[in-house]
Amino acid sequence: MSLTRPDLDALPAYVPGRSVPGAIKLASNEVPYGPLPGVVEAVAEAVAGVHRYPDMGVVALRDRIASRLGVDADRIATGCGSVALTEHLLRAACLPGDEVVYPWRSFEAYPIIAATTAATSVRVPNTAEHAHDLDAMAAAITDRTRLVIVCNPNNPTGTAVRRADLDAFLDKVPSNVLVALDEAYREFVTDETVPDGLAAYGDRPNVVVLRTLSKAWGLAGLRVGYLIGSPAVAAAVRKVVTPFSTSGAAQAAALAALSAEDEMLRRVSLVCAERERVVTAVRKVYPEVPETQSNFFWLPLGDQSAQFAARCEEAGVIVRSFQGDGVRVTIGTPEENDQFLAVLGI
Ligand SMILES: *Cc1c(COP(=O)(O)O)cnc(C)c1O
Repeated sequence: MSLTRPDLDALPAYVPGRSVPGAIKLASNEVPYGPLPGVVEAVAEAVAGVHRYPDMGVVALRDRIASRLGVDADRIATGCGSVALTEHLLRAACLPGDEVVYPWRSFEAYPIIAATTAATSVRVPNTAEHAHDLDAMAAAITDRTRLVIVCNPNNPTGTAVRRADLDAFLDKVPSNVLVALDEAYREFVTDETVPDGLAAYGDRPNVVVLRTLSKAWGLAGLRVGYLIGSPAVAAAVRKVVTPFSTSGAAQAAALAALSAEDEMLRRVSLVCAERERVVTAVRKVYPEVPETQSNFFWLPLGDQSAQFAARCEEAGVIVRSFQGDGVRVTIGTPEENDQFLAVLGI
């Protein structure tokens, strides 16, 4: 007899990128340059008040995000990372057995979130080029579908959906089905044909944009993400969020990070320049690396993935293997990237 839900036995656990002392970590899509200026001081100040509950309404941070984005604060919900917000969104949208459509391979949290919220996962395989198959995703929508997730750019393949294709897809989605645009890597997009979900589709009541401060903004360890939706959807999400899940330190850190946008942009441009250099070099050995708009790239190595990751680890570089599919490699500092390229003999 099991004291917990027996269906969880079959559920794969989330595998975090490994941290090995002394090794270079290119496994979790973090930006390698440390917290943004002002963040450490803001957190130190905030922790002096940790005997008090944080602002449950996250008012100052939601106001700051809203004014940055040019939307009303009632359209924003914050959470303990955008992973948690994705879970809250599912909880707000789906009853048990309702369907959530998402591409696969994509972010490994999606199937876990769907299963734990008792929604039914409908996975739509990526194209041979490792991109979303938007036609197949539209065709997978049934009258049980409550939510479709588009991961743009896609983790772990780095591929991105273009404006015209996303326009055509959204026109096919019934207006009573939510579409979540997971834009965790938006800041790294350099191709102008890849739409900013809020600017392009913010006027559609069924579109929700998910963003995070974990990646470009350097706050992975403090857990802050946000969602922009219609006022009604954002309010529903705020209702199901676990109370006080954006901690006081996280709120203070996020405000400080958002004040350091110029430095964030400078770091992102370093990462994007390195992405260009590294991917160009890697393609000499693995021409099948797909185009990436993220701070990582995808090596479609199939059954060789685990072996490749082990070879990197022996050389002191940790990458993220998805055995059977491929290996995801995060762009690090130029020196870190050189060490990865050296493993390939480049
Ligand atoms: C990293 C990531 C997130 C955000 O993670 P949090 O740290 O929880 O904000 C969301 N979606 C995708 C696809 C990601 O790769």
